[in-house]
Amino acid sequence: MPDDPADLLRQRGYRVTGQRLAVLRAVSREPHMTADAVAKTVRAELGAISLQAVYDVLGVLGDAGLVRRIQPAGSAARFEARVSDNHHHVICRVCGRTADVDCSVGSAPCLTAVDDMGYEIDEAEVIYWGRCPECRATASQLKGGQHGRREHVPGRAFDRAPVEP
Ligand SMILES: [Zn+2]
Ligand SMILES: [Zn+2]
Repeated sequence: MPDDPADLLRQRGYRVTGQRLAVLRAVSREPHMTADAVAKTVRAELGAISLQAVYDVLGVLGDAGLVRRIQPAGSAARFEARVSDNHHHVICRVCGRTADVDCSVGSAPCLTAVDDMGYEIDEAEVIYWGRCPECRATASQLKGGQHGRREHVPGRAFDRAPVEP
């Protein structure tokens, strides 16, 4: 993050608190973290903070436009500090690893729908689902050994159940 997070909060009229800064730092350092993971990182830095408090701070940072929340189907919400470009995501069905993908066609943000139906569109949310290189490698090893007995369950192979506030 190029700008000082404390300045960003102040510019947007939000009070600067230790928790807000710690959450913002955590999300900037490691994009697409779940709230659980953010809580662990922040605890390592600040000591005790409840998961609910982390959700509250993430909500405030979202309102402030400093954090973007993505909600993949069948997974816990993930948070990132790359907010300004409406980029998309590619997610591994097997391990849940998430990466940034730039807009598919034309220039970002690709908010120009063929027909906007009269809506005022401010966000285009695209998630590409598939298998990451590591999971593909593991799958082809398994295939070699046991002739493809590995089941493929689309969309719900995450190791953790969704956690919502
Ligand atoms: Zn994977
Ligand atoms: Zn992202």
